[in-house]
Amino acid sequence: MMAWTLDYTQFEPQRERLREALCALGNGYFVTRGAAEEAQAGDHHYPGTYLAGGYNRVTTRIAGQEVENEDLVNLPNWLCLTFCVDEGEWFSPLTVEWLDWRQSLDLQDGVLRRELRFRDRQGRETTLLARRLVHMGKPHLAAIEWQLRADNWSGRIRVCSALDGRVSNDGVARYRTLASHHLVMPVTEALEADTIRLGVETSQSGLRVVEAARTRVFVGATPLEVERKTIREERYIADELTLELTSGQTVTVEKVVALFSSRDRAIADPALAAHDALEGAGRFAELLTTHVQAWAWLWRRCDVRLEDGHRTQMILRLHIFHLLQTVSPHSVELDVGVPARGLHGEAYRGHVFWDELFIFPFLNFRIPEITRALLRYRYRRLDEARRMAAVAGYRGAMYPWQSGSSGREESQKLHLNPNSGRWIADNSALQRHVSSAVAYNVWRYYEVTGDREFLAYYGAEMLLEIARFWASAAHWNPQRERYDITGVMGPDEFHDRYPDAASPGLDNNTYTNMMAAWVLKRAIEVRDVIGAERRQELGEALSLTEREIAQWEEISSRLFVAFHADGIPSQFEGYEQLKEFDWEGYRHRYGDIQRLDRLLEAEGDSVNRYKASKQADVLMLFYLFSTEELGELFAQLGYPFAGELLPRTIAYYQQRTSDGSTLSRVVSSWVLARLDRPRSLALLKDALESDITDVQGGTTAEGIHLGAMAGTVDLVQRGQTGLEIRGGCLRLNPSLPRRLRGLHLRLRFRGHWLELAISSSGMTLEAAEGWEGPGQVMAGNQVHDFMAGQCLTFHYRGPDRGWHLGTPPVPDNSDNVDHPDPAA
Ligand code: BGC
Repeated sequence: MMAWTLDYTQFEPQRERLREALCALGNGYFVTRGAAEEAQAGDHHYPGTYLAGGYNRVTTRIAGQEVENEDLVNLPNWLCLTFCVDEGEWFSPLTVEWLDWRQSLDLQDGVLRRELRFRDRQGRETTLLARRLVHMGKPHLAAIEWQLRADNWSGRIRVCSALDGRVSNDGVARYRTLASHHLVMPVTEALEADTIRLGVETSQSGLRVVEAARTRVFVGATPLEVERKTIREERYIADELTLELTSGQTVTVEKVVALFSSRDRAIADPALAAHDALEGAGRFAELLTTHVQAWAWLWRRCDVRLEDGHRTQMILRLHIFHLLQTVSPHSVELDVGVPARGLHGEAYRGHVFWDELFIFPFLNFRIPEITRALLRYRYRRLDEARRMAAVAGYRGAMYPWQSGSSGREESQKLHLNPNSGRWIADNSALQRHVSSAVAYNVWRYYEVTGDREFLAYYGAEMLLEIARFWASAAHWNPQRERYDITGVMGPDEFHDRYPDAASPGLDNNTYTNMMAAWVLKRAIEVRDVIGAERRQELGEALSLTEREIAQWEEISSRLFVAFHADGIPSQFEGYEQLKEFDWEGYRHRYGDIQRLDRLLEAEGDSVNRYKASKQADVLMLFYLFSTEELGELFAQLGYPFAGELLPRTIAYYQQRTSDGSTLSRVVSSWVLARLDRPRSLALLKDALESDITDVQGGTTAEGIHLGAMAGTVDLVQRGQTGLEIRGGCLRLNPSLPRRLRGLHLRLRFRGHWLELAISSSGMTLEAAEGWEGPGQVMAGNQVHDFMAGQCLTFHYRGPDRGWHLGTPPVPDNSDNVDHPDPAA
């Protein structure tokens, strides 16, 4: 079952933190890193538990300034489980001699397993089989099972099972000079004989979190009577169990944990709720059964099956797994966004960026209820976005670059360059394009689901207010008779100002302007979609006049786009005048130049002087829009869009990008799918490796890169199938790489499940459970009727003739097939 497990066969302390992020378990409500139960936070281990939306703010004085940061709080560690023989030392991964060591994350069942055999300093050999789950069906529960065998010794053992609130946010080295203590008011209690409880409160947000743990010992099915002692320290409580173990005997230790917060619904109090949840929880095996059922439900809907390449298959599943652990059906009941780094570590403090752009396409076609809930997180923060726009002198709604609890701007004002040790002004909040991402996500969600209710009650209001923001940010330039948007940053975070400029901000970033034009147009269109009554209601509520709409129409067709002399769209106005960068020289000098900004700053130079980008910027447009849509957008703006521009633009920016963001390779792979298939696949492979091999050399340990994870799945989902919605119709135009023999997935479109199977020469599309969607689908460029219960089989007849109804006349021979370009 290689394709379902992430396996490690050697204990490598220096890689533990990375594995903890990759082996984290969660359920959308909370996530706990995959640290060993017996490990303590230190150089090699960093246990961490994070609650979705569990933020707190603290202030630090740094570089002469008061800086307030909002963190996703590291909650008390509930994993703590260890043992010792007699009065000997406590079992620790760093002190024993390993005889066998194996850890595997079972993606299908959502279980982390460890199979260990070790020798202590007294020569005692012990076998430990550990299993752990964070329940996908009962989001407040988690459980650990230890089967402990004395292999060559007999003796009295003490088992220590604790809840440890002596934690802080200490997981990211760069943040260590910042205040990191969030938890106050600890309350420890020993309840029934086998249960302990720890309650804490966050210092500013007043979030109460309670964990309760029940620890029992069994021999087979029989509970074992053990001697118990409660150990209490400040912010810490442990249950210490003493029992006798004879050589060859195995005991089972089970720790079941409940976690509740004061924000939970349908509870009287988190402490009571934790207690009650434990009372209702059965043994580990019972919890495992229902947990596996919940995962099976998810996998039935979300798996993407490849008939090839175990490793690629496994990584894709790992990515889907972590996505569903960060946001799951449980998120629907919560007020949360998608943190860019998952709930898997403290990087970027659990903040929500524009990365949803990369994540929602997967969810839209599977469990759009989750997307809807995540979009409502944005809707609830619309007033704050309005406030931010007003404070900055704009109208409408301006969403923050980094969002957390309240939706105010959470981007840090200063950041540390670890290469120079200097604190530097952080202007990334000038990435106003994030508001367009919110609007884009609203629209795409609607296209896939046809959920007019959402659009009418929530989506349209966001779209209209974001359009209003862009209209107020655009100003008429009489010289060129176009509208400008100035003083912003594009997605490429290397450029925050013109070389030697006193203040930050760039003018006419192409991505920003074209997205603004697109948003303005959709805002006009949405008024028709939601119907006359709602249009009028919203018009009144927002004081929207026909004059204002006419102005949007005008701006949406006259925003300025800067082009280089050779016709390539410029990343921003003036980019062409920047110096070329010595890529070869720097690669030679430094090896890894992904974070060129830091290298140059440490040298006393600035990346702002060069044509060098951290990530895709102009190319994002080619990622988000089909060639057809892009053509329409250029036409809307009155600019020519010649097909030959595409490869030149892609090549130009590809050569000038360091891929310093994991998102960048996803975009590059996508845009090259149309032009250079081998290179595109190589980039997909690189993107797949981003987290599992930690290509950035240390960042994954601080949290997974959810945008890149979901983006790779989407590269397979949309890239290989050519899936898109055209005029409300589902279009497929598959293009499998020759090595890949088959691809199976299920898609939810407009409320219905479709089964899609693609081989190298054929494709079947089936609506097993009925189909009430639009009675048509497109295969390639042909429209076909598609009725309830039908199964359509298509055969690929080559680049010129495309996809045809009917089974292939010749047997499958993948090596002879030359598939179409999905975007053609
Ligand atoms: C990237 C952003 C991204 C953020 C969070 C940064 O490194 O430049 O585009 O939103 O990480 O993933």
